[in-house]
Amino acid sequence: MPDLEITCAECGTAFPFTEREQDYYRERGLSHPKRCKPCRDARRANFGGPRQSGGGGGERERFEIVCDQCGKTDTVPFKPQEGRPILCSDCFSASRAQNRGA
Ligand SMILES: [Zn+2]
Ligand SMILES: [Zn+2]
Repeated sequence: MPDLEITCAECGTAFPFTEREQDYYRERGLSHPKRCKPCRDARRANFGGPRQSGGGGGERERFEIVCDQCGKTDTVPFKPQEGRPILCSDCFSASRAQNRGA
């Protein structure tokens, strides 16, 4: 696989995603990076600050959706894309089960 050039989502700089790095990411099942190394390091530094103790962590923004398939309202942990079918968690896992092994 040739080296890829990725445009940083943070600062817009194009940076190389080398063959070796691609292997590293693939081995770990990670998706390709969206940010250049300086931006990633900066983010990591921000997140690496004092850890909040106690429970209640892991709260993420959720978006309300209306399922394309069954019309049920649900919330998803990602921003739904306009013009694309969106499924509630039930239908999503059902369609995923169907697609498996296809
Ligand atoms: Zn950047
Ligand atoms: Zn549904």
